[in-house]
Amino acid sequence: MPYARKKMHDGDTHLRRRWRLRNRKKDLDEIDQDLKTKSDQLLNQDVDLDKPGFAQFYCIHCATYYINERAMQDHFKTKVHKRRLKALEDEPYTEKEALQAAGQGSYEPPAKRKMATQPSKSELEAGAKITVELQPDTPKHVKTELSKSKVLNGNYVEILNDLKSK
Ligand SMILES: [Zn+2]
Repeated sequence: MPYARKKMHDGDTHLRRRWRLRNRKKDLDEIDQDLKTKSDQLLNQDVDLDKPGFAQFYCIHCATYYINERAMQDHFKTKVHKRRLKALEDEPYTEKEALQAAGQGSYEPPAKRKMATQPSKSELEAGAKITVELQPDTPKHVKTELSKSKVLNGNYVEILNDLKSK
């Protein structure tokens, strides 16, 4: 009876599983959603003793925890972080764009967005927020139209801010 011996334990699979889950990296489109909808929450996390730095030093763009302020600031200066900001400047690939790339429909390049390193703790406390907005030079026609118009000239800044919030 070669297979009679019953396995009495599961080895360390539960530990491995936990490890895997903890180190699972987020995809760019998940991070995009985080930036759009969960930035307040993610930049102001509850103390979690299982996370590096008790979850108080989180780079939202890279979805990574750091052990302290210094480590996070150092990370902000790295190529990895800067490359990630660049990558997030493009709206994540949508199904429509996938079709266009496959030769169906005309190709429109993804919208460029402003991506800056997250506000510091003190800036956050002062009410700073992460916003995902288009680069100001993207809607070129809007800018020129507005500056040509005498009526709108006075409210230019106000209108542009309004446009940005849409
Ligand atoms: Zn980062």
